[in-house]
Parts: sequence; structure tokens; C-alpha cells
Amino acid sequence: MLIETIKVDINVKNIMFKRVIKLQKYFLFFGLGVFLTNCDTSFNLADSTTTDFSISVEKVLHEHISILASDEYGGRAPATPGEVKTIEYLRDNFIDLGVGPGNGDSYFQSVAVTEIITKSDAVMNIEGEVYEATLAYGRDMMVGTQQQVPELNVSGADLVFVGYGIVAPEYEWNDYAALDVRDKTVVILVNDPGYATQNENLFNGNAMTYYGRWTYKFEEAARQGAAAALIVHETGPAGYGWEVVNSSWSGPQIGLEAENLNRDRTKIEGWLTKESALSIFDGAGLDYEALKTNASVRGFQATPIGDVKLSVSIENSIRNSTSQNVIAAIPGTTRPNESVIYTAHWDHLGVNPELNGDNIFNGAADNATGTAGLLALAQLHMQKDRPERTIVFLAVTAEESGLLGSKWYAEHPIFPIETTVANINMDNLNTFGRMRDVVVVGAGSSELEIYLEDAVLAQGRYIMPEPNPERGYYYRSDHFNFAKVGVPALYAESGEDSIDYGREWGAAQAQEYTDNRYHAPGDEYDPNWDLSGASEDINLYFEITNVLANSLDFPQWFDGNEFKAVREFSIAERQ
Ligand SMILES: [Zn+2]
Repeated sequence: MLIETIKVDINVKNIMFKRVIKLQKYFLFFGLGVFLTNCDTSFNLADSTTTDFSISVEKVLHEHISILASDEYGGRAPATPGEVKTIEYLRDNFIDLGVGPGNGDSYFQSVAVTEIITKSDAVMNIEGEVYEATLAYGRDMMVGTQQQVPELNVSGADLVFVGYGIVAPEYEWNDYAALDVRDKTVVILVNDPGYATQNENLFNGNAMTYYGRWTYKFEEAARQGAAAALIVHETGPAGYGWEVVNSSWSGPQIGLEAENLNRDRTKIEGWLTKESALSIFDGAGLDYEALKTNASVRGFQATPIGDVKLSVSIENSIRNSTSQNVIAAIPGTTRPNESVIYTAHWDHLGVNPELNGDNIFNGAADNATGTAGLLALAQLHMQKDRPERTIVFLAVTAEESGLLGSKWYAEHPIFPIETTVANINMDNLNTFGRMRDVVVVGAGSSELEIYLEDAVLAQGRYIMPEPNPERGYYYRSDHFNFAKVGVPALYAESGEDSIDYGREWGAAQAQEYTDNRYHAPGDEYDPNWDLSGASEDINLYFEITNVLANSLDFPQWFDGNEFKAVREFSIAERQ
């Protein structure tokens, strides 16, 4: 995931450059462990300042990133030799740091993964009294499935337009009210009514709620028992063009292995191009745009799409494999059942043998940086007194395939979810030097932001809300799976307001990365990276965790947040 692509233009006044010197304690043992031989001899333990702290964390990060992102690790794809190297490297480093295993006596948690490839010759037929159409895979529609079975078909199913397809009690919203969609195909709009109307009092206004994500739409359709679910693609509210739907839905789709083979999901999940949707609605004598407008008004009634019926069948090839989350923990002294959990995904995209030249996706920024961050944080926490609560370091697998390792953990937690105090996630740390601003993805979610603010102000930096909240980035990295089970989760990192070179420069660096290196073989480690900003961010996470791990607090979701209800349910279990 990436937030650095976002361009912002703001004026910030009265920025303080005060830096806090309170980190001496961390240096008592700094340089011990595996990095001893790599320490710069000019490094002076007695002269412990914030700058030294930064330099030290930077060194640690450089060392780990250079190894994890080396060609030898083959782009760290799950279930490849690159995985074995990566997870052993992490385990060995946790052992060297004296951080114990997080899963009983093991540093690993197995994650069973299933790969589904849907054949691209799927055809969709729409048939009514007066209207008939055949939609082509890729051009007019995309279809796939979560069901882990070789063949699926839906034949002659009624089509029902369910608006945004949302059931949200906290917004008094139910698009499925008094509706039975069993054996039917639901047609759904992307994003949510708040975005559609830009009405701040509807959902979260312009900012996307989870109800706006396509993953939610399919989950809800399944809960309602629909046979198939199709989302109408529109570039604005989706946040990306049809080509992104086309490319990300074709080829292997990786999910968690499910005992019930995901038989409780709709048989067919997919997308219609806007053109296809317009044609179908038109063919059924309905005005798509008018219905869309109605759909963003509370009390909207779902409506059958004329007499048209849908038939589609797909064939899948299926393959199972196993990957590992890596987990280490510093057990709490007085309340070991309560935990603060750091996450970062260790996986990346591996090797593409069909590419000429450099075909290794090293994933240096994405996410050797965050993985290295876990080790740096483990090292820092080991230099403090043992915390009252347990601190967990979780390096998850298969983020790039859909946040799977974190999903597995959230569904098979090792430390109880109801007493997991907070999750702090790292994905793609800043490699461009110190930034004045700290961007909070999903700003306004939980009280963790109050703890963050204290730490940010102490660094003389300032907090920036996420500039494009309508894109739903909060739902696109591993912390989201913790949020989904109710654990307050923080995803915050350096923005683009470079202390040395200004905002324009910072934005240009981020854009260059997005254009040339993001998810490309060019995401390589560079020894010239300035990791001073990443080191400052790590210090923020460290500060927040130190406070939380030694307090009785359970930070809450803010009122109106879509994850508050599930947390309250689990709080009831805690008591
Ligand atoms: Zn990525």
C-alpha cells in the first residue's frame, strides 16, 4: 500500500523544529547483538542525543533492508525459497535480540493459502423479453469466485439493483430491508452514499467508510444469500480505472484455505463496466442515473431490474499451499494477556520469469522497510524494562495477495482479540529523509490518534489528516484486519513536507517512486537512502507502545466509527 502518491497543497504556519532529547536510555545496549560488527566506530555511546538515536536506528534499518531486499531473497514471494530465507532471517534475529517466540515455543504461525485461477473464457448472458446481451470477460465484465471449487454456475437468475448494498445500523441504513435475494443476482454501486452526495452528515462524507469498499459489498451479498453479486464500475467512486479491475481480477487469485470451501460466499463475484450496466438498465426500461440518485437517499428501496435474467458459468483451477506468519513477543510482567501488536508484511511479489532483464521484485521499500522496522522496534523495546503488557511483533505473509496473513491472524489470534489493546502497522517506511508532517491514514478513527499526537508534538512535527480519504487507503493494509475484529489500529507515517527540501520536493520523490518503482523490479535497496525520517516514525510507534504497554488504558474507536460496535461486543467478553 502506498500513501506517498497523494499530492497535497497546504500552508502550515508556526512549525516547530524542537527535537526532544530523552532517548539516552535506549543507548545503554545499543550496538549489541547481530549488528555489533557493522557499527560505525565513531559512534559515541556517551554522547546520546536524539540524533544518535536516529543514526543508530537508521543503521539497523539499512542493515536489515539491504539483506531482505537482496536478490538472494528472490522478492520474498510466499511459498517460495525466498520465504524460507526471509522467515528464518526474522526468527534468527528475534533470537539474537532475546525476544521470545510468539506462538507457544514457535516463531511461526502457518497460514494455509488457496490459489484459484478462473478461466478467461467465461461468458455472461443477460436475457429478457425484449433485451438480450452477451457480455465478454475482460471487455464488458469480470467474474471470479471465493468458492474453492472447480465449477460454478448461475442460471436464469433474477437481477436486483440494491443501490450501495449496505447494511449499517449505526447510519440507520439497510439496502436489503424486506428483501429476499436468495438465488438472485444483486447489482451494486461502488463507494458509499456519503461520497456520492458529498454530504458530510451522510456516512463519513467524502471519506470512504468500509461500506464503500468492494470487499464489503461481496461480504454483505453473501450474508444476504445472493447467488451472484456484480458491482458497477465507475472510475471516480472506485478510485481507479477499468484496467485495474481487469488486471487484478485476471490470473491467480489467492485466498485463505477454507474448511467449508467458502460455500457461504456468493457463487459468482464480479464487476460490470459502466457501459454494460447502462445497457442492461436501459434494456430493462430503467434509468440508471435516476436509480443511482435514489440509492443515496435513506430509505431507498431495492428494485428488480425489469424481467432480465442472468446466466454465467465459470471454471477454476485450484492449488493449495502453506506460508508462515512470523511472530515474536516480549511477555508482559503483570498483564501478559493484554497486548500491543506491531505488524508489517514481510512478503512481496517474487520473480516474474517472463520479464527480460531484471525480473526480481525486491520490494525494498515495500515492505523490507517495515519488516526491518519490526526488528528495530524489538531491539529498542528490549533495552527498556519489561513492559506490564505483552508487546507482539508480527511479520505477516501474503499482504500483496489481499492482506491474507493478517486476516489469518485476526481469525486465529494467538493473543486474545478482546485484550489486544492496539495494532500499529508499518507498510512502506519513508526513505526520503525527515518530514515535518505525519499523515494519519483513516484520520478520526480512534483514540490512538491522541497518543500519536502527543508523540508527534514532542518531535516538533505536526499531524496531517489523510489528503484523499475517499480512496479508502485505511482498508488496504494489514492493520485493517485488526480493525475489522474491533482492535483499534493505527496507520500513520511520514508525509511529504521535507524538512530539508520542502513539500514540492517531497511530493516529487514520492511520485517518482510511484511511477518508476512501486510494485516494479526497480524497488531496490539504495545505500544512499535517507532513513532519518523512518527512524523518527519508528520512534513515534515506540513511544506510543511504551505508554500503552505500561498503562491500564484501552483506547476506543471514536463515535460513529464502523468498527466501534464489534469492539464493544468484544469488550463485553473481556469483562
Ligand atoms: Zn505492495
